[in-house]
Amino acid sequence: MSLEIKKLVEKYQTPLYVYDFNNITNRYEELKEAFGGKKSLVAYAVKSNSNLAVIRHLANLGAGADCVSIGEVRRALKAGIKKYKIIFSGVGKRDEEIREALQEDILLLNLESEAEMKRVEMIAKELGVEARISIRVNPNVDPKTHPYISTGLHENKFGVSLDSAKRMYILAKKSEYLNPVGIHFHIGSQLTELAPIEEACGIVADLVRSLDAIGIEIKFFDVGGGVGVVYDDEVTIRPADYARAILSQLKGLDLTIVSEPGRYMMANSGIFLTRVLYEKVNGNKRFVIVDGAMNDLLRPSLYNAYHRIEAVQKEGEKSPADVVGPVCESGDFLGKDIPLPPLEHNDILVVHSAGAYGFTMSSNYNTRGRAAEVAILDGKDYLIRERESFDDQIRLEEACDISWQK
Ligand SMILES: *Cc1c(COP(=O)(O)O)cnc(C)c1O
Repeated sequence: MSLEIKKLVEKYQTPLYVYDFNNITNRYEELKEAFGGKKSLVAYAVKSNSNLAVIRHLANLGAGADCVSIGEVRRALKAGIKKYKIIFSGVGKRDEEIREALQEDILLLNLESEAEMKRVEMIAKELGVEARISIRVNPNVDPKTHPYISTGLHENKFGVSLDSAKRMYILAKKSEYLNPVGIHFHIGSQLTELAPIEEACGIVADLVRSLDAIGIEIKFFDVGGGVGVVYDDEVTIRPADYARAILSQLKGLDLTIVSEPGRYMMANSGIFLTRVLYEKVNGNKRFVIVDGAMNDLLRPSLYNAYHRIEAVQKEGEKSPADVVGPVCESGDFLGKDIPLPPLEHNDILVVHSAGAYGFTMSSNYNTRGRAAEVAILDGKDYLIRERESFDDQIRLEEACDISWQK
């Protein structure tokens, strides 16, 4: 492994994202199999890693896509995800996004407010189509995760209450231009406990039953994403138990179960490679300064998230160090108090569990080009995104007329 990492760094330079496509396959199969003979759709949450090669790989496995912008819908279609497996979610869709999604005839628009439903109805009417919709219900369940990635409580901006959902379904059922076929919830991310998921399922399943009683037949039961992964020493949910918990709440209902995993599929399918620039000691604090930074991997800075970090092929007594990048922010770190051996210029550090919400959250802050991305499939490496150059970064500024500034 470490020899391969050295070779990859020589070939592609750093900072670098590397993804294990065989692991993505395994994660997908595991989840798909967990639902066994039941009708199910694994709609990959594109926002976790939206590289076209990643989506194409999942498309080939038969996955659907959960998208949160029309850009993601375009990526999914371009990568070969079938349109009838694409869901468009998100609290703030623009008119032109709604229009395009309806024209593309994707599986579902997932709605998050009554006002949004009115817009969708209006646009569907303009186009003379019937919009297949689902409604995101906020079951007011505490997912017991980080507040930034908790979404299923009323204090969060997502979804609508059970009462408003019911009202919306009744309105939608009456409309010529809306076809309410789905129900959706997503209570949070990095979930490590089953109880909140089961509770949410039970609450939403009751709503499905009460809708059925008034002639509104729901076909797609979308449990969102959020299945947690091991970053450190978390005890996580097994797919089989996850499926069992969900199915236990759906007795007597004939539904297609949709899940929207992102992190589960990608986090431990990816690593981030960075090289040591310098070591320094301030007072009694040891810093390892590397060429990767918060613009490449934001999770530590944004959520104080932990990523395991290790040095490649280095011996020596370990002592705690903060691994920091070159960005001009004190919040720019990849890890704090990480036990590391003495390091030298050009030594390589592996940042683990970086496949989800790594590259997709990266930016050009400090005019740093985004990292390159590489896929490993059956022991072979493939470049799937070139390293961003300075010219790439300034292209849109250079394209503007600056004669007014002379
Ligand atoms: C972010 C998101 C997901 C994916 O969450 P993970 O924790 O990565 O599985 C799924 N569905 C919706 C609606 C989301 O916003």
